[in-house]
Amino acid sequence: MRKNKLNVDDNIMDEDRQTQNEINKIIPYGDYHTHTNFSDGKSTLEENIQHAIKLGLKEYAVTDHAFKHMSDGISYTNFQVQRRQVELFREKYPEIKIYHTLEGNLMGYSGLLDIDKCKDQLDFLQMGFHKTAKNESFGTWLSFTAMNLIFRPSKNKIEKNTLAFLRCIDRYDLKFVNHLNYCILVNVKEIAKACLERDTKIELNGKNVYFNQQEVDDMLEVGVDFVANSDAHSSERVGDISKPIEFAIQHNIPLDKIVNLKKSLFD
Ligand SMILES: [Zn+2]
Ligand SMILES: [Zn+2]
Repeated sequence: MRKNKLNVDDNIMDEDRQTQNEINKIIPYGDYHTHTNFSDGKSTLEENIQHAIKLGLKEYAVTDHAFKHMSDGISYTNFQVQRRQVELFREKYPEIKIYHTLEGNLMGYSGLLDIDKCKDQLDFLQMGFHKTAKNESFGTWLSFTAMNLIFRPSKNKIEKNTLAFLRCIDRYDLKFVNHLNYCILVNVKEIAKACLERDTKIELNGKNVYFNQQEVDDMLEVGVDFVANSDAHSSERVGDISKPIEFAIQHNIPLDKIVNLKKSLFD
């Protein structure tokens, strides 16, 4: 009797292991959210690119934290250095298409990002909320960032947060919105509707995904598309989208709703 039980458990564990192996083997066409040692990443841009090539990625984007990220934002000087590095590596590694951009920080209810200084130099735009980013003013920081971090947000606050994201989505031509619900709760369905209208994807982030099942169902009902990125902070994590894939399987997101699995985000 006891032996049988062990056998059943062993079978389940084998199946789990097999599924996990299958998930780990999924390599996206492109990874469009990664960091280098110019922000809070550990590896150099070249190490990231070399790992992306080794995995067989066709496209790779370097997206260091933008200027107002207090502890880890890239400096404007390093941003210009990185632009030249990207030019160099495009010639050195023609087998992969390299994009250069920044992870813009939402700076308040206006929907402004901290990238306006160099917006025209970025290959595409993407954004997220980071608790360590400066806001437009100290007053904005108190009412926007601090209030969201200290207090459990009320319904009213969630609507205001949502407005901040909607303004940002309207203001900029974003390719995707990063790690929604991280440190700041929003009305995901409303954001999904705006994203669908603007052809902006919703990211399933490689470090963590913060949607509940209801929010997933809402997004699927709206029909918005997803992008799965590693958000790698070291070269060995570039192209690792096992967490988003696992999340998608557990929450019934059809894998063909994740646009960068088989083709470019820009197709
Ligand atoms: Zn981020
Ligand atoms: Zn990031």
